[in-house]
Amino acid sequence: MNKPLALYTDTEFLKHETGGFHPENPDRLRFIEPVIDSLAAEGAVRVTLCPPLSETELTWTHDSTHVALVKTACRKGPTSLDADTHVAPASWDAALRAAGAVVEASRKVLDGTYRRAFCAVRPPGHHAESDRAMGFCLFNNVALAAEALKREGLERIAIVDFDVHHGNGTQRSFWNDPAVFYASCHQYPHYPGTGAPEETGGKDAPQGILNEAMPAGAGDLEYLAWHMGPLAEALRAFGPQFLLVSAGFDSHADDPLAEHRLSTEGFGLIGRVLVDLAEELCEGKLVAALEGGYHPRALPEGLEAFLREL
Ligand SMILES: [Zn+2]
Repeated sequence: MNKPLALYTDTEFLKHETGGFHPENPDRLRFIEPVIDSLAAEGAVRVTLCPPLSETELTWTHDSTHVALVKTACRKGPTSLDADTHVAPASWDAALRAAGAVVEASRKVLDGTYRRAFCAVRPPGHHAESDRAMGFCLFNNVALAAEALKREGLERIAIVDFDVHHGNGTQRSFWNDPAVFYASCHQYPHYPGTGAPEETGGKDAPQGILNEAMPAGAGDLEYLAWHMGPLAEALRAFGPQFLLVSAGFDSHADDPLAEHRLSTEGFGLIGRVLVDLAEELCEGKLVAALEGGYHPRALPEGLEAFLREL
């Protein structure tokens, strides 16, 4: 069976301006446009626009006061929600569509419309906590998708996060939730400061979190060893019905925001391992969403290597 990969993206994401020389800027989507175009021309991906999530659906994982605060800040923008999280009026619609894409993709993979999906969205999401925006993230796109899948009746959802930064927001959302397993490999110590191996979950989900804290300099070998070893073992023990992936490409050797050493091929190998695990454990059901990745060449090349495995 060779269904094309559903690829969610939207020109609305180009309007989310973060101002000045901010690394998370609309050019990131321009860098990856040629990759999407060539995969679409080959028939390997079906490009799909992103429906906005409703404000009510945002409150599945976010406080209504946080939703209102972000909405007001966007309307009055350009302004900043923290030292590095900037918004302007168009950011509101971009944020709703980023979350909406990951939620819809998850529902459509669950119902069999698509086999797998990738969401090329911005702003990213994994640093956003229930009550605050941070680290370029306004709402937690992947956490909202996990919540949507729970509402569809799933009881075991796994989230794997290979962005070079720890997904503090995702971890906090599901800290004490036995229905969602969160696993992250990341540079440590590094932004945002969380993600130590001792952080394994709350009393209702004591093994619900798996953190692989890697020092600066880690590369393909360390990432693959973790994905094929501790991650695979933990996923087999959990038995997920669905795999969500926070796909960050800022672990590439050339990325300016961290000090890991992944090669372009490394992202393809990670993609292969994750697809194999999804096939083994949950009938191949996998939805990945773009998190970080800031280098004009490393981002599109790493993304293409990853997408070709999906
Ligand atoms: Zn990152």
